[in-house]
Amino acid sequence: MAEPAKTVAIAGAGIVGVSTAIWLQREGHRVILIDREGPAAGASFGNGGVLASCSVVPVTVPGLLRKAPGMLFDPNQPLFLKWGYVPKLLPWLIRYLGTAKAETVKRRAKALAQIIGDSLADHQALAAGTGAERYIVPSDYLYLYRDRAHFESDAFGWQVRAENGFEWDTLEGEEWRAYDPGFGPSINFGVRLGNHGLISDPGAYVRALAAHAEAKGARMVKADVDGVLREGGKVTGLRAGGETIACDAAVLATGAWSKTLAGEFGLAPPPLESERGYHLELWEPSMMPRAPVMVAAGKFVATPMEGRIRLAGVVEFGGLTAPPSRAPFELLEKNIRAAMPGLTWKKTEEWMGHRPSMVDSIPVIGEAAHLQGAFAAFGHDHVGMTGGPKTGRIMAQIVAGKNPNLDLSPYSPARFA
Ligand SMILES: Cc1cc2nc3c(=O)[nH]c(=O)nc-3n(C[C@H](O)[C@H](O)[C@H](O)COP(=O)(O)OP(=O)(O)OC[C@H]3O[C@@H](n4cnc5c(N)ncnc54)[C@H](O)[C@@H]3O)c2cc1C
Repeated sequence: MAEPAKTVAIAGAGIVGVSTAIWLQREGHRVILIDREGPAAGASFGNGGVLASCSVVPVTVPGLLRKAPGMLFDPNQPLFLKWGYVPKLLPWLIRYLGTAKAETVKRRAKALAQIIGDSLADHQALAAGTGAERYIVPSDYLYLYRDRAHFESDAFGWQVRAENGFEWDTLEGEEWRAYDPGFGPSINFGVRLGNHGLISDPGAYVRALAAHAEAKGARMVKADVDGVLREGGKVTGLRAGGETIACDAAVLATGAWSKTLAGEFGLAPPPLESERGYHLELWEPSMMPRAPVMVAAGKFVATPMEGRIRLAGVVEFGGLTAPPSRAPFELLEKNIRAAMPGLTWKKTEEWMGHRPSMVDSIPVIGEAAHLQGAFAAFGHDHVGMTGGPKTGRIMAQIVAGKNPNLDLSPYSPARFA
């Protein structure tokens, strides 16, 4: 028998919240999408736009613990810290660094592959018939190294990708230069993965998806969600901007801001931090990379987008409220000048935002154990644009009481309780 239609309120209209809304509508449910700034106000606006299916390897790889202190004091490394934030950060950071072990990385990779491994097809399915299809561009994705020895120093990560079914070919010397002549002599080795993709304007894409949801009957509310109403252990509504919004189920999808609301949603405090990230946009560039690339030396991506190249990367720990720092922008510019020495452009735009990062680098996707009708979908750190559509589809199934035919235990909100 078909489930009766529910009214579902979703807090947060980033890629995760909007994907959840669309898949819920397709299941026949009524949706209320609430964001304090409107759709695509957070990380979903400013990300690198890479549908990085192969990015199953987290930041915390074996050896990080040895390297991290040196990286913090080297202005040429993409790791920054707001020192005043250290006392708040420390408990999370100790646990986070503690996951830099081979076995933990492999467990995370397996869990992530289910969410991000087929991203291009997941985006195409999400966007079909919405008008947002035009922003999805199938492409290769390349990791760029100085030379073969530099590539081989990353052997562990490539081994983990191979174990999860990813395949690639390598381009060296002249073959690499013929593939993308825009890069200079500092890069001589590329690893190319097919069946990836990019979003040519992430903010416009998520807004187009949200507009489609609204056209299909979703109620859009611009307000701060600050509470969950309950009766007899069940969700009955959300409190947002002084208004009470009645619903049968509520989804917490507020990205890096999900910690403060977790208690309201019946969840134990999640070990969630902001990994602050930066982008620089180079408008009207003299040339474009042929495909999105991850420049391994600087750990940033360069993505050809509509009218501009977007450079995105850097990890800075400093919490949700501190203003952007200057050094990450300068580092991104210095790194692209080194990688593409002939590149010129007309105008630069800057942005800083918050990756929602769980201590074990695995997102939270599931129902709250002690509050019926409360659900959580957040914590996708560096790969939320890639994994948003699949997360939304899984969420819609769980909220509707269906079995997504997937082992959901790695993402359980209860795993930290
Ligand atoms: C520099 C950078 C580069 C990146 N590059 C990539 C990439 O190339 N590929 C990739 O897959 N991922 C990338 N990511 C990661 C990706 O952007 C995120 O994982 C993803 O966008 C998270 O989506 P979300 O919907 O969970 O959160 P967000 O997009 O952050 O959305 C959360 C929303 O919640 C709203 N909100 C917060 N609190 C409240 C409240 N109390 N009430 C109402 N609304 C609220 C906010 O306004 C916001 O709109 C990158 C991130 C950064 C920062």
